[in-house]
Amino acid sequence: MARPQRTVDATVSTPWTIAGQGLAGTCLAWHLWRQGIPFRIVDSEQGGSSSVAAGLVNPITGKNFEPTPRVAELLPEALDFYQELESLMNERFWHPLPILRLAADEKEWSKMLAKSARPDVARWLDGGPLAADGWCGALRLTGGGRLDPRGFLNASRAFFSKHAIYQKAEIPHASPPPHTIWCDGAAGLLSGRHGPHRCAKGEILTLRAPHWPEDHIRIGGGWLVPLGDGCFKAGATYEWDQLDESPTPAGLEKTAAIARRLGGDEHFEVTAHEAGIRPIIRRSEPQAGPLGDGSWMFNGLGSKGTLSAPSMARRLAERIAASIAEG
Ligand SMILES: Cc1cc2nc3c(=O)[nH]c(=O)nc-3n(C[C@H](O)[C@H](O)[C@H](O)COP(=O)(O)OP(=O)(O)OC[C@H]3O[C@@H](n4cnc5c(N)ncnc54)[C@H](O)[C@@H]3O)c2cc1C
Repeated sequence: MARPQRTVDATVSTPWTIAGQGLAGTCLAWHLWRQGIPFRIVDSEQGGSSSVAAGLVNPITGKNFEPTPRVAELLPEALDFYQELESLMNERFWHPLPILRLAADEKEWSKMLAKSARPDVARWLDGGPLAADGWCGALRLTGGGRLDPRGFLNASRAFFSKHAIYQKAEIPHASPPPHTIWCDGAAGLLSGRHGPHRCAKGEILTLRAPHWPEDHIRIGGGWLVPLGDGCFKAGATYEWDQLDESPTPAGLEKTAAIARRLGGDEHFEVTAHEAGIRPIIRRSEPQAGPLGDGSWMFNGLGSKGTLSAPSMARRLAERIAASIAEG
C-alpha cells in the first residue's frame, strides 16, 4: 500500500458510516482514508474478537499442513499495509517471527514430510526436518509472525479521534444512517441479519514464563506466541454451542494444557484469560459488499482476519469508490 494520502477532507461531510472498529472496520477505514472518501467510524466498544485475538499469521495451517488459501498474494499486501501504518503512526504492530511447526504423532509427521516436497509448501520452509523433545519432529516456517491487534486498533482509534471521525456509539440495526457499512463482527452475524453463520467461540491465555524461548512461535495442537518481556499468548479453543464472551473453567484447562505442552513445563503464571467469538460465515469465506437495502457489509473474517482484512478492505473501498463515481 502506498503511504496513506487523502485527496478529500473527510471532516467536510460524512456520508459513509463504518459500524464497528474491529480489524474489518479499521482496515476499511484506512483504505477509505487513503482514497479520500469521507467517512466516520462508530464503535459500541462492547468488545469484539479483534481485541482478544493473538494476531498470529501462519502461512501453512491445520492438521493437513496446507498453505492458507491465497497466502502468497495476501501476505505481502498485509505486511505492506501494516508496515505503512506503523510509519504513519510511529508505532510497531507487526512482529515477524519464525514458526516451529511440531508434529504430535507419526501420521502427522509423515504428512508434513510428504507435503514439504511440494513447491507451494517448500517456499515457506526454512531448512529440513528438526528433532524436538517430546514430539515426532518439527519444521521451521518463514513468512509468519504476529500483529499486535490491540495496539493497532488503539493507535488507529486515537488517529481517527484526532481527526474527529471516530465516535463511541451503537448503530441501531433497525434504523442505520444512510450508507452504513456493517463491520460488526460476530455481534452482526449472531443477530441473524446476514443469514446462516458458523461463529466459533475461542478462549485464550496471556501468561508469563520468562524462561521459555521467545525467538519463535510454536504450533502443535494449539499455539504459543511470544509477546516479549517473558510474556506469551496461548490458545485457542473452538466451541460452537455456547456463543458468549465469558471465559470458562474448561477453557482455562484446555488453554493451560496447550501452554504446558508447547512451553515444555508447568512454570508459568496466567495473567489474563479471555474469550471472543470468531465471525465465521458458511465455507469460512469473508464477505464484503452491498446488502440491497442501501447498507453494506464486511464480515466473516474467521480465524485469519489479520491476513485477509487488508486485502478485502482494499477491494471493498475500491467498490465503494466506483459506486460513488457512478453516482
Ligand atoms: C480467541 C481468539 C483468537 C484469535 N486469534 C487470531 C489470530 O491469532 N490470528 C488471526 O488472524 N485471527 C485470530 N482470531 C480471529 C480474529 O479475531 C477475527 O478474524 C477478527 O478479529 C474479526 O474482526 P471483525 O472486525 O470482523 O470483528 P470484531 O473484532 O468483533 O469487531 C466488531 C466491532 O463491531 C462493534 N460493534 C458491534 N455491533 C455494533 C453496532 N451495532 N454499532 C457499532 N459498533 C458495533 C464491536 O464493538 C466490535 O468492536 C482470533 C479470534 C479469537 C476469538
